[in-house]
Amino acid sequence: MDSRGAVLAKAIGAMAVVIAVGCAQPIRPRLALPEQHSIVRDQLVVHSDFPLPPHHRLLEELTARRVDLSQQLLLPVSDEPIHVFVFQRADELDAFVRLRHPSLPRRRAFFLETDTQLRVYAQWGDRVAEDLRHEVTHGYLHSVVPCLPIWLDEGLAEYYEVPRGRGGLNSTHVEALAARLAKGDWRPDLSRLEALPQETDMTQDDYAESWAWAHFLLATRPARQEMLRDYLRELRLRGSAPPLSLTLRRAGGSPEAELMDHIRRLTGQSR
Ligand SMILES: [Zn+2]
Repeated sequence: MDSRGAVLAKAIGAMAVVIAVGCAQPIRPRLALPEQHSIVRDQLVVHSDFPLPPHHRLLEELTARRVDLSQQLLLPVSDEPIHVFVFQRADELDAFVRLRHPSLPRRRAFFLETDTQLRVYAQWGDRVAEDLRHEVTHGYLHSVVPCLPIWLDEGLAEYYEVPRGRGGLNSTHVEALAARLAKGDWRPDLSRLEALPQETDMTQDDYAESWAWAHFLLATRPARQEMLRDYLRELRLRGSAPPLSLTLRRAGGSPEAELMDHIRRLTGQSR
């Protein structure tokens, strides 16, 4: 997550959305996807060239996350498969991506949406749990909500990449935002995030603030959670919705100041 970035790219012959995380690795030839083994868990089809225990706790968690999202965001569940390709080594994933998707940056994991398929590429390494929770969240969201703005797509992925039971509290982001607040060089601005083009390669600061707004909406007041649910329902039904910054402002108060207070309150909890 420290070197996280996002790109939009054209890939596998169709307009595709690719959201990427990770870091650079050395290259070895890799021409094909890992497909020797596959496990189907509800919406997830996990492919690998090495056997994975069918009831591995990470797969259990990813499966449960589908229900978490549906219940917390009041979204329907989809039966559209999300194909998760797990590479055993980082250099295999890197070489495959450089061969098949040469325009993409070097990353540790990717989510890719084409007209016909949702895919995740990841490496079974030290951070595979965080990476898969993040990328599979994109898959669950994209399978039911069209036209999700990039800040909310990433903000929710950062929220749900945290292990279950921690209320989406992303300590890395809390610490980073608290440090910026202490230095006086951060003023939250949801309108700025909303104006980011979908093709934006978001900075780490953008990821942190996107997470902060998602956490603010989901973990402070029920009325704010309802705003987010309404927003997602509008997107799902109509493909567009009034910006959440406008809805928050109309509800009164000063959302930016309240977000900063929220981060200050979280600073102690995340330690
Ligand atoms: Zn992402």
